[in-house]
Amino acid sequence: MLRNTKILATLGPSSSTPEQILELARAGVNIFRLNMSHGSHDDHRARLQAIRAAEQALDRPLGVVVDLQGPKLRIGKFPHATPVQTGDIYEFVLDEVAGDNKRATLPHPEAFAALKPGHRILVNDGKLAFHVEQVEPRRIVTRVAVGGDLSSNKGFNLPNTVLPLSVITDKDRKDAEFALAEGADWLAMSFVQTAADVKELRDIVGKRVGIISKIEKPSAVDDLDAIAMLSDAVMVARGDLGVELPPEDVPVAQRKIVHQCRHLGRPVIVATQMLESMITAPTPTRAEANDVATAVYEGADAVMLSAETAAGQFPLEAVQIMDRIIRRVEGAPDYRKVMALDYSAADEPDRTDAIAACVRKVATLLPVTVSVAFTTSGATCLYLARERPSTPILGISPNLTTARRLSLVWGVVAYHGPDAENLEDMVVKTTFCATKLGLAEQGKPMVIIAGVPFGTPGSTNLLRIVYP
Ligand code: PGA
Ligand code: MN
Repeated sequence: MLRNTKILATLGPSSSTPEQILELARAGVNIFRLNMSHGSHDDHRARLQAIRAAEQALDRPLGVVVDLQGPKLRIGKFPHATPVQTGDIYEFVLDEVAGDNKRATLPHPEAFAALKPGHRILVNDGKLAFHVEQVEPRRIVTRVAVGGDLSSNKGFNLPNTVLPLSVITDKDRKDAEFALAEGADWLAMSFVQTAADVKELRDIVGKRVGIISKIEKPSAVDDLDAIAMLSDAVMVARGDLGVELPPEDVPVAQRKIVHQCRHLGRPVIVATQMLESMITAPTPTRAEANDVATAVYEGADAVMLSAETAAGQFPLEAVQIMDRIIRRVEGAPDYRKVMALDYSAADEPDRTDAIAACVRKVATLLPVTVSVAFTTSGATCLYLARERPSTPILGISPNLTTARRLSLVWGVVAYHGPDAENLEDMVVKTTFCATKLGLAEQGKPMVIIAGVPFGTPGSTNLLRIVYP
């Protein structure tokens, strides 16, 4: 049985040798993440080459995501760890001071311009919280809402504040150049605040790489539609989102984001802490298994492993159990019913929406083994995936980058091969390819969609049912 929901695994010290990477791909990883928050370009280049080698060895496209760090805001220096008490007044100042139990440096002028009374400041992954009472050009007076220890360079989050700064740092620009030079398939953008941020990255990279917008700010949840429309995919980045939102809001936000991305036809990834305990244990908790299952039932395109595969003790076991959970859920009797409940027709359907909806319908009437799209950019496959049909989707693309990018998309088996030249050739190539991949069965129909004349993007106008 093929798996619809894809596995995205982060590479790191625990998973860097060519053998380890091949083993992870063999265990079911569809697409790998190179996290620019850690490691050098040389480290990442070596991993990328190992992914390309694994792709050759397995003879199936593997995608590569380069994940940009984005702006990490940090407080200034403390001579030593200092406790601050809940209920006290605490100040953040722009000037460089030695931090103590009364004040700390916040070396980011933009924060002073954008913070307002009533906003919250979170420090050290949300362990400490401050309530802003008064804002001056170089001084912010707060009340400590949740106390704890402060020490040098701890990260801080401003969940209610949209900063008037570019979320693309100098480091991100260099990392994006690296990604383009090395031929990465996807670029993930951290801490997207609004759609304007996505536009800024698009102006730099154009269409040379797919953009994944990481939703980890409340302002991004609010601007989701515009962000998703400007992006090629979206990630529910629950690590930082879970710092900025109270825990009870995260599942609701996840469901909303996944649902809306499905509606808009944008691939969506559910990320972070999915099998967190497997960093140090060979089996997950029941709650973690349930978390993966929930994302699968919601119809996410992909589920992600972070430290589990990058830095954990059981990277292979984490992929194996994730693969097993996904298969189990997708084989459960209620899976399709639950998936159908979340389906909604496009707001302004076009011709390809109509044809894709027919493909889904045909598969409910005939024993179709595979739905096939000839696609240059991958767009036709996204239309088919949006329908969440009961058959595998075979995407045949003459463009290797497209085939690799499609490794992120729900239900798609991508194949890198030449475009069809005419209708007869389309049937020949489909039969060859579907047979090779084990997706054809004697006497059972296959549904093909394509655009005629061939080789014209956006021209989908044909549905054909053929028998191998
Ligand atoms: P990160 O993003 O691992 O790069 O922080 C994912 C998240 O925040 O959930
Ligand atoms: Mn993050």
